[in-house]
Amino acid sequence: MIRVERATLYLVELPLVAPFVTSFGEERVRRALLVALTSGGRTGWGECVAGSGPWFSAETTETARHMILDFVLPLLHGREIEQPREFPSIVAPIRGHPMAKAAVEAALWDLHAQAEGKPLAALLGGTRDRVPAGVSVGIQPDVETLVSRVAGYVAEGYKRVKLKVKPGWDLGPLAAVRERFPDLPLSVDANAAYALADRAHLREFDRFRLLMVEQPLTYDDLVGHARLAQALETPLCLDESISSPHRAWEALELSACRILNVKQGRLGGLSAALEVHALAREREVPLWCGGMLETGIGRALNVAVASLPGFTLPHDISATDRYYREDIATPLFRLEEGHIRVPQRPGLGVEVDTARLQRFTVRAWAWHP
Ligand SMILES: [Mg+2]
Repeated sequence: MIRVERATLYLVELPLVAPFVTSFGEERVRRALLVALTSGGRTGWGECVAGSGPWFSAETTETARHMILDFVLPLLHGREIEQPREFPSIVAPIRGHPMAKAAVEAALWDLHAQAEGKPLAALLGGTRDRVPAGVSVGIQPDVETLVSRVAGYVAEGYKRVKLKVKPGWDLGPLAAVRERFPDLPLSVDANAAYALADRAHLREFDRFRLLMVEQPLTYDDLVGHARLAQALETPLCLDESISSPHRAWEALELSACRILNVKQGRLGGLSAALEVHALAREREVPLWCGGMLETGIGRALNVAVASLPGFTLPHDISATDRYYREDIATPLFRLEEGHIRVPQRPGLGVEVDTARLQRFTVRAWAWHP
């Protein structure tokens, strides 16, 4: 039984090891909103995956803070929650804001798993003790730098490399990487940088034997993706478009993609991710877990999600050192034979380091019922 007695929100800023460039822009620091919920002497942690600006989704750390403090937490006031799958119906009156909701739901799952004395992965129905790690490589200053970066990741043992692409940074970089690594499992992510009118150009991606082309068109264009899917041999995978389990169903009904990238934050929480998992298994649609430059808190959650049986492709879950020199949670995630180990301790299975949390916190807000 969970009864939220107190909540604290922390806005943290963690410097990235190297700037991460996508078709949206460049990030040098990961700004994240963390949620700590206290119940019965335990603390559960959640990380909001919203960014500092409304580029990947409409949400930002600031809109999420507002939603969580002013709307989500008041709905939990005085409530006794048997288990976190009740959460989506509790917050159903709030329209949208999936990332804000997901951060609170994550903390409830952590509390619940701690109370049950089980690792979160086991509680969700996870069947793996380690998950294959992929790496997402941002847009680089030039092709040589890209190839040497990819070579570094391949040498470290990453199982799949994903290149961020955009118009003007696609065929050349792809040809260079493919030539150097003829058998490397390779995919691309456009973060919505193309239009349906680019379909002849996108068809040229087919010759690189990619695992998938991720989110080539804009986020709300399922029909466009369905049209494009017919023109390409390479399977399409959707990320930004899949904002809820219902959208996942629509995308599959329209044949707008053959693969789904699952991000629990974008979907509205772990319960929603479980729903998509069930849907995908029913239809034999391969899943993999995406990443949002999470700190160790969000990374632990992603690893638990990726341990589910329907997650059959390598994930955008990398070792901590690919992103951060220091992290807020310990132990750090390490690459072992191209895999990341699923935490086995009760709850999320990572510990928040109080001194580091203080050092990286820019602002904090306390909530008492
Ligand atoms: Mg993506």
